[in-house]
Amino acid sequence: MADIIKLLPDHVANQIAAGEVVQRPASVVKELLENAIDANASLIKLIIKDGGKALIQVVDNGKGMSETDARLSFERHATSKISDAKDLFNLKTKGFRGEALASIAAIAHVDMQTKTEDSDVGTYLKIEGSQVVAQEPIATPTGTSIAVKNLFFNIPARRNFLKSNQVELRHITDEFHRVALVHPSIEFHFYNNGSEVFNLPQVNHRQRINHVFGSKMENRLVPVNEETEVVKISGFICKPEFAKKSRGEQFFFANNRFIKSPYLHHSVIAAFEGLIKSDVYPGYFLYLDVDPSCIDINIHPTKTEVKFDDENTMYAILRSTIKHSLGQFNIAPVLDFEH
Ligand code: ADP
Ligand code: MG
Repeated sequence: MADIIKLLPDHVANQIAAGEVVQRPASVVKELLENAIDANASLIKLIIKDGGKALIQVVDNGKGMSETDARLSFERHATSKISDAKDLFNLKTKGFRGEALASIAAIAHVDMQTKTEDSDVGTYLKIEGSQVVAQEPIATPTGTSIAVKNLFFNIPARRNFLKSNQVELRHITDEFHRVALVHPSIEFHFYNNGSEVFNLPQVNHRQRINHVFGSKMENRLVPVNEETEVVKISGFICKPEFAKKSRGEQFFFANNRFIKSPYLHHSVIAAFEGLIKSDVYPGYFLYLDVDPSCIDINIHPTKTEVKFDDENTMYAILRSTIKHSLGQFNIAPVLDFEH
């Protein structure tokens, strides 16, 4: 029998990878914001139209790309962030897979403008469904602008699966919060359909939380600080009386990356035991710093699920740290649950 196995062409492989990396407009927002941060931007603009279905644009003042790098950045597994398998155990950047731009360009129309500091002229690139349709020199400031239009134009099933503009915008806003909360030293501007949604100046963590969630937060926050051999924990919890039925103010960051961890969430809830009713969630903004070799963020392309080496110890430290913070602020148990 004749041989029947063949390697898929790049654009097909990219489209398959895109299925994992890009679930919805918010996934694109996350990838573009992370790239801007990795490029050391101090100012990042996010521009959205129609829930990201018409336009998702991120403009940064980071280090930009040379003409060759601009071209290469859309190739799969093309990255400036790691070069070796051992780098995976010492990740300092948000990205490292070299998959995002290739995936996005496989399923959308992408316009990029980029320039490095030491270059007089920048590069303009237009890519549609993995095909470069235009490339020319352009006058542009140092940094990078990437505009993603017509997401899923070539995957109708995916495009039809998108929710209303309002729901997609909510997912985008969630991603924006996650990034903004962990980088208070970066100035962010967020525009939706031409109007400004957020204008966040460079501040500290506490002020950033207040700017994102409103000044009502200010008197709700209790600081958390602990340093052990395994982990450094910093951030804030909200006082028990402000626990809410709805979720949305619970954030874990591990090494400056938003993570989802039902297990660690449970440890926070355990620390609040006796202080809140069982049907409400306390707010928290907790930043965990661990040795990069003790955390595996490579288990999923979106990198929100991570694996800690010693989860049980983490659980115990977190619970006692939060109990301690609650105790220090003289927050007595609420014996009468009816207030
Ligand atoms: P990764 O972030 O995993 O490296 P991406 O596909 O997101 O993969 O990006 C590929 C490469 O393109 C990056 O490694 C980086 O060198 C370059 N790049 C992407 N976005 C930017 C940006 N905003 N500024 C400068 N360089 C960028
Ligand atoms: Mg990236």
